[in-house]
Amino acid sequence: MTVEKIDTLIIGAGQAGVAMSEHLSNLDVPHLVLERSRIAERWRSERWDSLVANGPAWHDRFPGLEFDSAADAFVPKEQIADYFVTYAKKINAPIRTGVEVLQVTRNTGRPGFTVQTSAGVIEASRVVAATGPFQRPVIPSIAPKDEGITQLHSAAYRNPQQLPEGAVLVVGAGSSGVQIADELQRAGRQVYLSVGAHDRPPRSYRNRDFCWWLGVLGEWDAQAMKPGTEHVTIAVSGAHGGHTVDFRELGQRITLVGMTQAFNAGVVSFQADLAANIARGDENYLALLDAADAYIERNGLDLPPEPAARTMLADPQCLSQPLLELDLAKAGVSTIIWATGFAVDYSWLQVDALDEHGKPQHQRGVSREPGVYFVGLPWLSRRGSTFIWGVWHDAKYIADHIATQRKYFAYRDGSQR
Ligand SMILES: Cc1cc2nc3c(=O)[nH]c(=O)nc-3n(C[C@H](O)[C@H](O)[C@H](O)COP(=O)(O)OP(=O)(O)OC[C@H]3O[C@@H](n4cnc5c(N)ncnc54)[C@H](O)[C@@H]3O)c2cc1C
Repeated sequence: MTVEKIDTLIIGAGQAGVAMSEHLSNLDVPHLVLERSRIAERWRSERWDSLVANGPAWHDRFPGLEFDSAADAFVPKEQIADYFVTYAKKINAPIRTGVEVLQVTRNTGRPGFTVQTSAGVIEASRVVAATGPFQRPVIPSIAPKDEGITQLHSAAYRNPQQLPEGAVLVVGAGSSGVQIADELQRAGRQVYLSVGAHDRPPRSYRNRDFCWWLGVLGEWDAQAMKPGTEHVTIAVSGAHGGHTVDFRELGQRITLVGMTQAFNAGVVSFQADLAANIARGDENYLALLDAADAYIERNGLDLPPEPAARTMLADPQCLSQPLLELDLAKAGVSTIIWATGFAVDYSWLQVDALDEHGKPQHQRGVSREPGVYFVGLPWLSRRGSTFIWGVWHDAKYIADHIATQRKYFAYRDGSQR
């Protein structure tokens, strides 16, 4: 039986896989993309119904195609998925959908990899793991075991109607937690939102979206997290036309609480860190305004002053007198939504490219196992690496690396090619 052979196999056809395909095609590298489901599936079935992009259409896209919407609009998630389907067609990406990669192993005594898939075996000289930055929903071990309370991760949340009647505790106030809590409150639910350390850039300032500010100020290009910010999430929202996440405004409608600490006999306790977490977010917000003002002045830009952006609302009661405990039954809490992030799962990738915790070891996506690459991971090369526009640039670098390696492999004594 002949085994199918390919130079470069890309696993996953989200935005990362599509970007890889574009760059490899540009460099004439024969390749194939395998996707276990549909193109950009996670945007369709692992996000809530009302989700829109966190960045405006002019920003959160690939260079080669504009969204079919106003430049400053925040594109709904189904349209984002459709965009990648259109993009894949436009670049003629060789994508095979409905094929899952089950195992990748390195060949012994010869180059390349043997790839077991749900549709047979493929041999590849190189593999690029493009299976996503946010693969496996993480629910912390403090989650109560009690029956009778509905618990779900933000990846499984769709809409308010999906939840049983009653109040909701949302744990985690990054972009997902904040937006879900807001949606539930607007749907008439009583909501508790557990807030940890966060950044909260202004949606826009002096007539420019924060995506623009992070770009011109070089923040998207930061190569590593600042020390001590590993657990700091970012709270932004494109919902309702886009707005700054303002916890004081939210705290008038939603009960904000500190970090969730423990569950004991139906009572949840919260850390006494709410004020400190909000203050840290304020600091981050004000630092961006300061940096933007300095940039405008230095470059003599004609952007309208916006002094009102520095006016903070009064602290809501939940902030000045924070709740440290909540009896879930007495408060009528029927559901806990864990907006607590994701981990990766490379159990199928059985090569020497992962550490003892299963985390990829790489430099800008080039792993220590020759021929194995990662793309789309948080901070792969910079802060922007998981974002639609950022992954496109990372994929370009990796495709260049692959093309260079192919040249080494193709070298024969005295040959120019
Ligand atoms: C709630 C939320 C909102 C976001 N909003 C934005 C935003 O507004 N703007 C922005 O720029 N970014 C946003 N992101 C970040 C990022 O753009 C998305 O996470 C995006 O889905 C990442 O694309 P990806 O291609 O790297 O991975 P994924 O979209 O996760 O794609 C990986 C693909 O690999 C497939 N796959 C996995 N395992 C296998 C296997 N073994 N075999 C075959 N196929 C496999 C999956 O089915 C999937 O289709 C958001 C993320 C989240 C969680």
